Amino acid sequence: MIILKTAHELALMREAGRIVAEVFDMLQSRLRPGVTTGELDRLAEELIRRRGAVPSFKGYRGFPAAICASVNEEVVHGIPGSSRQLRQGDIVSIDVGAIHQGYHGDSARTFAVGEIGVQARRLLEATEGALYEGIAQARVGNRFGDISAAIQRYVEDRGFSVVREYTGHGIGRRMHEEPQILHYVHPADPNRNRRLRSGMTFALEPMVNVGTWKTELLADGWTVVTQDRQLSAHFEHTLAITKDGEAEILTRL
Ligand code: MG
Ligand code: MG
Repeated sequence: MIILKTAHELALMREAGRIVAEVFDMLQSRLRPGVTTGELDRLAEELIRRRGAVPSFKGYRGFPAAICASVNEEVVHGIPGSSRQLRQGDIVSIDVGAIHQGYHGDSARTFAVGEIGVQARRLLEATEGALYEGIAQARVGNRFGDISAAIQRYVEDRGFSVVREYTGHGIGRRMHEEPQILHYVHPADPNRNRRLRSGMTFALEPMVNVGTWKTELLADGWTVVTQDRQLSAHFEHTLAITKDGEAEILTRL
C-alpha cells in the first residue's frame, strides 16, 4: 500500500529534506583532494544532530556510518573511513538521510574531487540529468512507468547504463516504503501502470554506469561496485506530489 501524506506530514518531510540539503551544501564546501570520507561522515552527522535530527542510515541493518560515500567504481553503500582519502580526479557519490520528527529525507549526489576527466564529467551530467528527466514525469495522471522510461532513455541515449538492482522508493515514516520505482523499464514491474496521486512521497535515485549495469557486492557486505570496475554515479532527491499535482523537490534548499 502506498501511504499518502497529509499537509502536516508534508511539512515535516519538507523540514527533513531541508536538513539533508543543508548537509550537501556543507559537504560541497569541505570537499577537496586529501579529505577523508570518514571526516565528511563526521561533519555530516554533527550537522544533522545539531538540527535535532537523526541520521537515517546509522544502524540501519547495522550500517556503521551516517552517510554512504562511494568512490569511483563504487556504486552505492560505500562505508566512510578515516583512511579513505579522496584524490584529485576521483568522483565520490554521497548519500545522506535524516529523520526529523519521525519523517525521513533522502538524497544523493556525486561530487567531482578537483579536476575530473571528460568521461567522468559526462557521467555526472548524464546521471543528474536523468534524475531531472524522471522528476519531470512525476505528476498526477502519469504512471510510475513513465518515470522509469524517461530515466532509462536519457541515460542510454548518452551511451551509459542504468543499474538494475537498486531502485527508487516510497519514503515517509520509513526510509523505504511502497512503491518500488524502477529506473528502467521492465515488463513485469508491478508498479509501471500505477498512477501518481497527490500526497505521494518518494525518492528517485538513478545510479548510472559507464560500462555494464551489472554490479557486485564487496566482501565488507556493504560496498556495491560495478562488475567491470568502471565509474558509476548516483543522484537522488526526495519528492512530494503536491495538491496541484506537480512534484516538489523536498531535498533542496
Ligand atoms: Mg539515499
Ligand atoms: Mg533512497
